[in-house]
Amino acid sequence: MTDTSEPAWFPIALRLDDVRVLVVGGGMIAANKVRLLLAHRAKVDVIATRLDEEMRRWGEDGTITHIATTADEGALRAALPGCRLVYAATDDRETNRAVAAIAREMNIPVCAVDDPQPSTFITPAQIHRGLVRIAISTGGAAPVLARRLREQVESSIPEGTGELAIFMQQQREYVGQACPDISRRRRVWETFLDGAGAQAARQNETARARAILDDIIAGTTTRGEVWLVGAGPGDPDLLTLRALHMMQNADSVLYDQLLSPALLDRVRRDAELVFVGKRRNRHTMPQEEINAELVRRAQAGQRVLRLKGGDPFVFGRGGEEIEALLESAIPFQVVPGITAANGCAAYAGIPLTHRDCAQACMFVTGHARADGTLHLPWDSMARPGQTVVIYMGVSALPALCARLEEHGLPADWPAAIVERGTRADQRVLTGTLASLPRQAASAGVGSPALIIVGEVVRHRVISPA
Ligand code: SAH
Repeated sequence: MTDTSEPAWFPIALRLDDVRVLVVGGGMIAANKVRLLLAHRAKVDVIATRLDEEMRRWGEDGTITHIATTADEGALRAALPGCRLVYAATDDRETNRAVAAIAREMNIPVCAVDDPQPSTFITPAQIHRGLVRIAISTGGAAPVLARRLREQVESSIPEGTGELAIFMQQQREYVGQACPDISRRRRVWETFLDGAGAQAARQNETARARAILDDIIAGTTTRGEVWLVGAGPGDPDLLTLRALHMMQNADSVLYDQLLSPALLDRVRRDAELVFVGKRRNRHTMPQEEINAELVRRAQAGQRVLRLKGGDPFVFGRGGEEIEALLESAIPFQVVPGITAANGCAAYAGIPLTHRDCAQACMFVTGHARADGTLHLPWDSMARPGQTVVIYMGVSALPALCARLEEHGLPADWPAAIVERGTRADQRVLTGTLASLPRQAASAGVGSPALIIVGEVVRHRVISPA
């Protein structure tokens, strides 16, 4: 069956204490649901022809109530009014659908197990750490994928996270009184979470955790800082863990147009996003103003994330921004990112060096001066035995290729251009110094794009499908 209209599942967390839930089915699928429901203190009624071992024991000791043996319409209509949720969990899809139809008609939320179509709710895969619940759902589309994702997330949640949540709950009122200002309070907690206090709380060393928390509250001055962070070339999976962590902790984020929306999606929801984009010949905010803005925000006590495409120290003017921070004595951290040359080379399958043909690799900027001229070390660029990677070179591509030929490289010297490298819509063109400008023009290659010149282009490898 092809159903093009995807249901819009809305995640909520329900309190089930003493809530009556009907489970139809007595086998393993039903038992799995019943176990979950009991763990959440629901009262479970069961309709089933026969109960498997575990279910039978629950029935015998009164943990669940076996109210009927056939899921016919009469039994359902009698049982449903007192229930707030229904699981249709037999191994027969038709039976489950019949149960779901009646429940829907009576306006009672129903989950037909492994069958989202007739269901009005689904139960996501879950991770429990005490109070902490993480639910993962594919909207019923791919339960195995949800489970796989759960394993991945599970491994990244430290042990003791439940204990940590309880500690924070216990100290919440105290911290609230000690720090009435909400942003200071958040900073106190974040400092706490980043340090030894959280570790102590996870290990249930409550007194030590509390002492550390007190130190943070007493010592906290609103000292802002600036994090100059490389976000890589576009694919969010190429973010470093540190970049991701900072994206989730910053008060404000200053970014430019190289940052793809997929990357910005990873920034904490309530951080202030400030576009300071720079486009060629159309500077949204001049560099001096960006520098001043970084200083102003840090002085106001913010943790300011200056998020840059690629690596901040590769044609990113990171150095200039840092000088401005130093002048105003603002503390800063620099976090490297995968630069476009590395990202594009890997995703296009072009090695930057190769034992047979390139013993060196050079990064240059193809950005023309205001008068349109290119000032580049042509003689050292136009040499065999090396790779030349040109950033910001799309509009000067014909001139670049022509000058390299003039300085001695053959017209059939390999060259490639990678547009929007590492992103879902990446395009790669390979050719020669003679052909590439024409190829790029007819394909309408735009920014951002990276030019790779050298025999390594011939060593391009593409994985078999
Ligand atoms: N700091 C960045 C470079 C900034 S200069 C870095 O380390 O990657 C901007 C230039 O980088 C663009 O003109 C383009 O040549 C290159 N670039 C950045 N991201 C790119 C991408 N995803 N694909 C191709 N080129 C990219």
